[in-house]
Amino acid sequence: MTPPPNSISSRNVAVIGAGAAGLVAARELRREGHTVTAFERQKQVGGLWVYTPNVEPDSLNIDPDRTIVHSSIYQSLRTNLPRECMGYSDFPFVTRPDDETRDPRRYPDHREVMRYLQDFAKEFDIDEMIRFETEVLRVEPAAENSREWRVQFRSSNGVSGEDIFDAVVVCNGHFTEPRLAHIPGIESWPGKQIHSHNYRVPDPFKDQVVIVIGNQSSGSDISRDIATLAKEVHIAAKSDAYEKESSIYSNLHIHPTIDRVYADGSVVFQDGKVVFADAIVHCTGYKYCFPFLETNGYVTVEDNRVGPLYKHVFPPALAPGLSFIGLPSMALQFFMFEIQSKWVASVLSGRVKLPSEDKMMEDVIAFYAKLKSLGIPKRFTHFLTDPQWTPMFEKLKPHEAVLISQTEYFNWIAEQCGCSSIERWREEQYNIAIKKDEDTFRDDWDDDDQLIEEAYRDFARFKP
Ligand code: FAD
Repeated sequence: MTPPPNSISSRNVAVIGAGAAGLVAARELRREGHTVTAFERQKQVGGLWVYTPNVEPDSLNIDPDRTIVHSSIYQSLRTNLPRECMGYSDFPFVTRPDDETRDPRRYPDHREVMRYLQDFAKEFDIDEMIRFETEVLRVEPAAENSREWRVQFRSSNGVSGEDIFDAVVVCNGHFTEPRLAHIPGIESWPGKQIHSHNYRVPDPFKDQVVIVIGNQSSGSDISRDIATLAKEVHIAAKSDAYEKESSIYSNLHIHPTIDRVYADGSVVFQDGKVVFADAIVHCTGYKYCFPFLETNGYVTVEDNRVGPLYKHVFPPALAPGLSFIGLPSMALQFFMFEIQSKWVASVLSGRVKLPSEDKMMEDVIAFYAKLKSLGIPKRFTHFLTDPQWTPMFEKLKPHEAVLISQTEYFNWIAEQCGCSSIERWREEQYNIAIKKDEDTFRDDWDDDDQLIEEAYRDFARFKP
């Protein structure tokens, strides 16, 4: 339903964060005619792609008063998706042959992603909307029953302040607050433990026996990085669906999950195998965390479910004034940020209508009930479960996983806001990329030349 043009309005909108989500949110909001202020506590754009060798002093990140290091990327990190499908739709993430300092690889390193985001910010003059080195401390309704939002902030030079906005778009990222696995006996296990948030280089593990818990992207990459220097690396994996013995690293071994650890340094896996280890690296993921957000209980985080949220974006009772970009994981992130941002921007202007609060709530309740009936735990609420991920959900049959596939999700949002949905080549590239050989996928791909050509034909429409 499209309202007449004279009912379209411009809002004063705060965006929290200037990572890949915040940058495109700011662009889409301004394109729609809104006035945007983005708050970013770092000195520059890029979010988690701003690599730092610094780590938090508490290697498991348990101390609530610790100084937060935002980024979770390690020195050797290269993208886990081909660059064509990783970029925003109208600002292709292509190679820059004119600049020899750029990484031309199809799966480039993290510096190249950072430079792509810097290029994006420059191209669309996004920096001028950003207040750098300014941390948002609190976001709350401006007054009882008010539709406005108060944003309190403090800049790095100690100056505090607050501003009132019509709307707040939360883009603070969700790879900074670690989640830890519970391991029976860990209190007396004598080895070193770190979470992958604090992993940068393999050197501290030289000649050691290391256990890596988790075998998704980070676990798989970090175990191989450590295997270049360690004596042995043992991956404790919940599912063997994504992991087979490495064809490159003979010192890398796969096990089921850990049953128990002991004070003598032993680690016992669920198949009864025992390894005496020096260190455990927890590649066990992250928690959603919004320490600044005060919604009088309308939005909560429960077992990593942020809710209630209509289609992972709008809390029904507070929509459209409060929205979240980027919560779903296991998806084409930059594309998703872009399409969600277009939706938020068009709803805020009034060009696109949301259903009533009751209808949105009904949808959320039905979605949660469906997840429950399929045996999907709350913590997977924001997984867009394409069939490829089905093995993670023991009770889910492949046809049921399609219920919340990323393609359906993107198509649905595109239809709402009248924008283009996901390109065929992008979807296909993603589907091929995630069925990867963990040892070789970044340099050994020859399966989708046609898709690459299709992508580049599409890119020709946009300025490089
Ligand atoms: P972030 O990049 O984390 O940005 C959030 C921003 O908000 C930060 O700049 C932060 O400083 C700011 N902020 C937070 N709180 C406040 C506050 N209170 N006040 C002010 N500012 C605040 N995706 C891919 O597509 N391809 C990949 O290869 C890939 N590799 C990954 C590897 C790792 C190890 C991880 C952890 C993730 C990877 N991802 C990858 C997913 C990644 O999350 C997205 O690519 C994306 O960069 C996340 O962007 P974001 O803007 O949501 O969050």
